[in-house]
Amino acid sequence: MPGIRDTIRGMAGYVPGEQPRDGEYLKLNTNESPYPPSPRVFEAIREHLTGDRLRKYPEPMGNTFRQAAGRVLGVDPDSILIGNGSDDILTILTRTYVPEGGLIVSPTPSYILYESLAKIQGARFRTVPFTSDWQLPDPWPVKDADLTFLPNPNSPSGTCIPLDRVKRLAEEVGTLVLDEAYADFAEENGLRLASKNVIVTRTFSKSYALAGIRFGIAIADPAVIHELLKVKDSYNCDVLSLAAATGAIQDQAYLAECRTKILATRTRMATALAGLGFAVTPSQANFLWARRSDRPAKPIYEALKERKILIRYMNYAGYGDGLRISVGTDAEADRLLETLRAIL
Ligand SMILES: *Cc1c(COP(=O)(O)O)cnc(C)c1O
Repeated sequence: MPGIRDTIRGMAGYVPGEQPRDGEYLKLNTNESPYPPSPRVFEAIREHLTGDRLRKYPEPMGNTFRQAAGRVLGVDPDSILIGNGSDDILTILTRTYVPEGGLIVSPTPSYILYESLAKIQGARFRTVPFTSDWQLPDPWPVKDADLTFLPNPNSPSGTCIPLDRVKRLAEEVGTLVLDEAYADFAEENGLRLASKNVIVTRTFSKSYALAGIRFGIAIADPAVIHELLKVKDSYNCDVLSLAAATGAIQDQAYLAECRTKILATRTRMATALAGLGFAVTPSQANFLWARRSDRPAKPIYEALKERKILIRYMNYAGYGDGLRISVGTDAEADRLLETLRAIL
């Protein structure tokens, strides 16, 4: 294929979790919410379903959303960048900070998209292993990265790095991206660390139940956002996703209600999985990381799939494998657990 850059031809490409369309599967593989979005989301979308709204371009910076989000999060609207999912935000950050031949670093086992972002950019990628109890080595060993990504809570473990350690990490590395995709399920978050060298990212795909809509944000010093705005597509978020995200963030009571239910089911699922012989890592996210020492994990994933239940099988070089299972409703958890009892 003439003309294709070597770095693109040489990479495998990011493989997202399976997204079957037949509705026949119980999907516990990509950490979507088991609950629908807030009723405010449907109202907001309906309001925008007019010829005039759809005919015109959306607000380029999403100012209506930024005002609403600024009030809810207690931050300056100018410190918010909108994105077409938080993966779009991570791409914008990479393009802004990482030159060709530059360096991206993240802990491992962790979110595997960061490596793809590095490759597309023609940059190098290095990982630093978590300690055996899912903490960061202290001091952090790589100081010369152009960007350091830390998902907190981490995927696949669901574990958190305490904020004081995150704060020190930010002083050790040049620029830290704190990927808080799952922060709404955690005990604390690092929003107040957002600054000139700490960029906090959030997604509406998980806690706000809007994975199909594609919306995410970055929060940082307004001077940083000013630079990122030059890199993003002018109209990276459409009218309907902006309306949906604005409706969603204005319904914090609904978010809290869903969170409470998910955390209760998470506790139930963790206890039951441990009872079935899994080693389950204590989670601060909407999924559980379950491993086995007595038998291989992959056949369990395969047997569940045959029975129309999708979970995520993960295998990390230098670490090993395990199963990442999204927290569903109580009824979904029961179906998973009953099926596991029959398989094991
Ligand atoms: C799901 C996820 C995201 C991306 O979410 P989008 O759907 O692109 O908004 C980012 N980081 C982590 C760690 C995730 O798990």
